Amino acid sequence: MDWYRSDAAKQAVNYHRGEIQYCLASQRGGFLKRALVCGAGGFIGGHLIKKLKREGYWVRAVDIKEHEHCPSAADEFRLLDLRRRQDCEAALTIAGGKLNEVYQLAADMGGMGFIHSAECEIMHNSALINIHMTHKAAEMGIPRYFFSSSVCVYRNMNLGEPELSEEDAVPAHPDNEYGWEKLYSERVAMAYERRFSMQVRIARFQNCYGAEGTWRGGREKAPAAICRKVAEVGDGGTIEVWGDGSAVRSYTHINDMVEGIFMLMQSDLHGPVNIGCPQYVSVDELVSTVAEVAGKRIHVKHVEGPVGVHSRNFSNAKIYSIGWRPRVFLREGIELTYPWVDAQVKALANRSSMAVT
Ligand code: NAD
Repeated sequence: MDWYRSDAAKQAVNYHRGEIQYCLASQRGGFLKRALVCGAGGFIGGHLIKKLKREGYWVRAVDIKEHEHCPSAADEFRLLDLRRRQDCEAALTIAGGKLNEVYQLAADMGGMGFIHSAECEIMHNSALINIHMTHKAAEMGIPRYFFSSSVCVYRNMNLGEPELSEEDAVPAHPDNEYGWEKLYSERVAMAYERRFSMQVRIARFQNCYGAEGTWRGGREKAPAAICRKVAEVGDGGTIEVWGDGSAVRSYTHINDMVEGIFMLMQSDLHGPVNIGCPQYVSVDELVSTVAEVAGKRIHVKHVEGPVGVHSRNFSNAKIYSIGWRPRVFLREGIELTYPWVDAQVKALANRSSMAVT
């Protein structure tokens, strides 16, 4: 049998299909740039890929798992463990050229419940991913590197305190190990930027929410968890909420977040940059908004649980300086998110009842 008809040949073609498509489209002048998205099986990575595709990019996606909620829009999806240096190298290696941009969103992460119970996993896994990815990307001459940090790098704040700007993160006193790992990895990225010719862009995300994100299982964040709890009860039902409901946060809709990531990556802004919606609400206000959107009267039972910092208030002056503004405020964002979570809850209930009968 001819080699090109063999299974080995088919596998090789399959493996390099993304690159072959890139070469063909490049010859037609089809793609602008090639990007790697790490953490592509996750919430923000999945949405970012759709944005990059709309912008005409060829996208390689990498994660340790497939996306749970939708097929990836990437040209190529590779399952790799970015804690391993050789897997980082494989992610960054491309036949006949170089990646133009790397978006590093892979992390061992979740909401407050996970952050407080998985300190060692976060400090070990996320640090390894960032140490190896940053090192390999710089060594292999990647021109532009994005790192997804978090406002968890900041200290606890009191209600009414003036907003903190990016420089106020040091002297540092993050509330949890997740914040310390982010602060360390920001500094890793900035050190490599000083030594190598790699341009680094760093965003400190506020809480991000929207459809196609984790909504159950222990890693979900507050907006998804509250949408799920409200979807699970009937009109007049009671849901449990951790803490006394007074902790204040801002929530940034995923559509605004991916616009911010993209604009920051194309900009000349150096150093960490806050990205977040300036609408600050208490946990109880978040619950009322979800209940209104769901059209249900909901009672809240406040219970003991990890709450995190009491208050947040950050300057967006830096990201505003390049023209980014949030467009989706909480009510509209929940209107975009709740129906999706509600549909997941109903689909799961249907699957469970079919398994029983
Ligand atoms: P997510 O958990 O949905 O996505 C992270 C992805 O990283 C997951 O798909 C996971 O499988 C992948 N990953 C973990 N370990 C890996 C490994 N060893 N190799 C390859 N992939 C691995 O999280 P997200 O909400 O999409 O967050 C993306 C980034 O943004 C993370 O760095 C996170 O810390 C940061 N961030 C998110 C928020 C938010 O509100 N979602 C807020 C602040 C910062």
